[in-house]
Amino acid sequence: MTAVEPKPAVGQETFDSLNPATDQVVGSYPVHSVEQVSDTVAKAREAAAWWASLGFDGRGARLRRWAANVTRRMDELCEVVQQETGKPHGDAQLEIVLAIEHIAWAARHAPKVLGRKRRSAGLLLSNHTASVEYLPLGVVGVIGPWNYPVYTPLGSITYALAAGNAVVFKPSEYTPGVGKWLVDTFAEAVPEQPVFQLVTGFGATGAAMVSAGVDKIAFTGSTATGKKIMAAAAETLTPVVIEAGGKDALLVDSDADVAAAADAAVWGAFSNSGQTCIGVERVYVHENVYDSFVDKVVELTGKVRPGTEYGPITMPSQLDVIRRHIADALARGGRALTGGEVGERFVEPTVLVDVPEDAEAVAEETFGPTMTVAKVRDMDEAVEKANATRYGLGSTVFSRRNGAAIAARLKSGMTSINAPFSFAGIGSLPFGGVGDSGFGRIHGPEGLREFSRPKAVARQRFSAPIQLTTFRRTE
Ligand code: NAD
Repeated sequence: MTAVEPKPAVGQETFDSLNPATDQVVGSYPVHSVEQVSDTVAKAREAAAWWASLGFDGRGARLRRWAANVTRRMDELCEVVQQETGKPHGDAQLEIVLAIEHIAWAARHAPKVLGRKRRSAGLLLSNHTASVEYLPLGVVGVIGPWNYPVYTPLGSITYALAAGNAVVFKPSEYTPGVGKWLVDTFAEAVPEQPVFQLVTGFGATGAAMVSAGVDKIAFTGSTATGKKIMAAAAETLTPVVIEAGGKDALLVDSDADVAAAADAAVWGAFSNSGQTCIGVERVYVHENVYDSFVDKVVELTGKVRPGTEYGPITMPSQLDVIRRHIADALARGGRALTGGEVGERFVEPTVLVDVPEDAEAVAEETFGPTMTVAKVRDMDEAVEKANATRYGLGSTVFSRRNGAAIAARLKSGMTSINAPFSFAGIGSLPFGGVGDSGFGRIHGPEGLREFSRPKAVARQRFSAPIQLTTFRRTE
């Protein structure tokens, strides 16, 4: 079987979405042109005024209705996700459950986080009251990836909607059917106005949205595309939030629960077949527990079952990257303790040791089921090596005594202690990275504010002998 890519957009009016496990066509979608994107944004702008006028209660009730709809029809959505990504049922279900948690969190907390708040007016203007409120931006353009086609874009979409914005969503060309399913079920819950709309196509359709006069772009995808989007957005001073790639490290201290750390490393590296922005790609283990950790990782990796726990690589071109990283690691003295084989669509879960730190498998995002494991003298060396990357999305540390202290030293937007990527499932926590992993935050109060415009209001309650205007009069 030869892996097939969706065809390029030039001159095409539609494109096919394919099942990566079988290469069967599962749907056909329009390639939206610049004009169509612009029309969609114009419609969204009209709907945005109505959506904003509903207030927190009106929007919250509708978002909850949508969440109930998604929950009720979860199996249906799982199937669409599985068809377009090839991921196993469990992985599909997990991302949907986490996404629903975020819809609920955003709807429940928007009034408190974004409602008007009194601020101190200070001594100089003590005859004033001061307040700030967080107003909708208008229309938010969301551009998403394929690896978690529900959880990832909804991390922006639900927070943007809860903050009172209309949303135009451009899903990945690999997962347009998932995008359509989300927009259609939202329209069932909110039939009055096109508050949440879809445009489909390739990079050119995404680029059209960046230039279409939206009030903010929320992008999740590769660092390379993030840079292009930021450059294009600079032309119109359109603000952006960029959620890009990662090269997350997991650190294992000498006092760690080694079995739990090994389990977390295997889950973190191989769930979703390693196609996870916050997937564990590098592991640094204290020399005292290195041998027992590696033995346990190899044992657990041997139990990963293809099909039920483990799917194909969704994007065929990624296979070349994974193949190159493994070959480079092996050519430079590394050893594969498990796996190492890259097939037409499936890659064996691969544990690499003795890989130099400047090899591609350590330095670049692999976005596949590989982990490099390295022995370190102490946690100082582990932190130094974990931080020696241009990325900085998530990180994980296993330590009984020093978890918080080590976490504080890690250069990443998010850290989990004694569990793999728990931060991603907690609605109240901001999600995002540093360096080449991007900037801005989705989820939590920070996510709601990311899609809002703070409006400051100072109100004079009575005139006072000394006012700011006094200085002007005496000039
Ligand atoms: P990608 O950058 O190839 O594509 C992402 C989206 O951008 C797609 O919808 C694509 O059509 C669109 N696009 C491409 N070129 C564009 C352009 N010039 N202008 C506007 N839009 C354009 O990424 P991908 O392969 O879909 O996703 C995998 C990447 O996403 C990995 O690097 C992964 O780490 C990252 N990711 C990050 C997060 C996070 O939260 N930080 C989450 C999931 C995935």
